[in-house]
Amino acid sequence: AGLGRLHRPRRRQPSAVPDARQGVKDPQVLAALEIVPRHMFVEPGMLAQAYVDISLPIGHNQTISQPYIVARMIELLKDSKKPLHRVLEIGTGCGYQAAVLSCVAQEVYSIERIKPLHELAKANLRPLRIANLRLQYGDGMLGLPQVAPFDGIILAAAGLEVPRALLEQMAIGARLVAPVGAQVQHLQRITRTGKAEWTSETLEACHFVPLRPGIA
Ligand code: SAH
Repeated sequence: AGLGRLHRPRRRQPSAVPDARQGVKDPQVLAALEIVPRHMFVEPGMLAQAYVDISLPIGHNQTISQPYIVARMIELLKDSKKPLHRVLEIGTGCGYQAAVLSCVAQEVYSIERIKPLHELAKANLRPLRIANLRLQYGDGMLGLPQVAPFDGIILAAAGLEVPRALLEQMAIGARLVAPVGAQVQHLQRITRTGKAEWTSETLEACHFVPLRPGIA
């Protein structure tokens, strides 16, 4: 899917993988991290750090996520037994994780609530010509009911709990991965096991910007 057609640059492109690997094993996820040129998503003044495994500011008090956490969350989202079909991301930011997701899922939808960041992501992603990725401006806490159900949902911003609308937009058997908490946050993975049944696992500590309602 996604960036498969992208040509490798003549000079070997540095990769976000070496530092980001840290226990992430899924070969498809690691390959996606190799393919997506992270320098195309960072501000010009931050280019020297584009391939360092840290989050970086992208304006509007938001950040581009650390490659490790992007890889880890996508690995947690995947069920090795079946390919990911339709995936929703809440919090496009600069568009980096959306590009990585487009390499591992057949269809990716990503929502951003801050208009200038939605525009920034569009501009960052345009030259990559990713056919299976759709960006949406809006409040991701409401999900995307017109496209639901999703086989996977990833939140790139932390709420005190996972919004009900997102749980309802999961297909049966689907997974949702989200940072949950305020000052102290943990990754939570939720699996929809039935029409009115979800199970939840609390995993490692993490640090994300807050999930906020409404649009800006
Ligand atoms: N996915 C990005 C990370 C962006 S940071 C990456 O690849 O690096 C998280 C983003 O979530 C911010 O841009 C913030 O504006 C956005 N966000 C927070 N609450 C949101 C909501 N309710 N709906 C959509 N986006 C939201």
